[in-house]
Amino acid sequence: MAHVITDRCVGVKDQSCVAVCPVDCIHPSSDLDGQDAFDAASQLYIDPEVCIDCGACVPECPVEAIFIIEELPEEYHKDIEANRQFYRTWTSK
Ligand code: SF4
Ligand code: SF4
Repeated sequence: MAHVITDRCVGVKDQSCVAVCPVDCIHPSSDLDGQDAFDAASQLYIDPEVCIDCGACVPECPVEAIFIIEELPEEYHKDIEANRQFYRTWTSK
């Protein structure tokens, strides 16, 4: 189980979720990973192997982009794999 960031984040990327995550599992962020990595990503993603499902990020998102998998609307199911795929290919600096 994990939380998932959907493509509603694209074009917003305000990092409100990063600021409250207790385990730093939301990337890339400008503070944690550098401005270049942040700029290169179209949206942010949650590492499903690290997320502890605390839910703290959900109410912080201004566009309601974050869902727990069990409550993810059908139209965003593709984003489960998008979040996983990001961490298969991305390494923190
Ligand atoms: S649910 Fe908690 S641990 Fe998971 S990404 Fe959100 S703030 Fe981080
Ligand atoms: S708070 Fe929402 S819009 Fe902002 S970076 Fe996180 S997921 Fe994206």
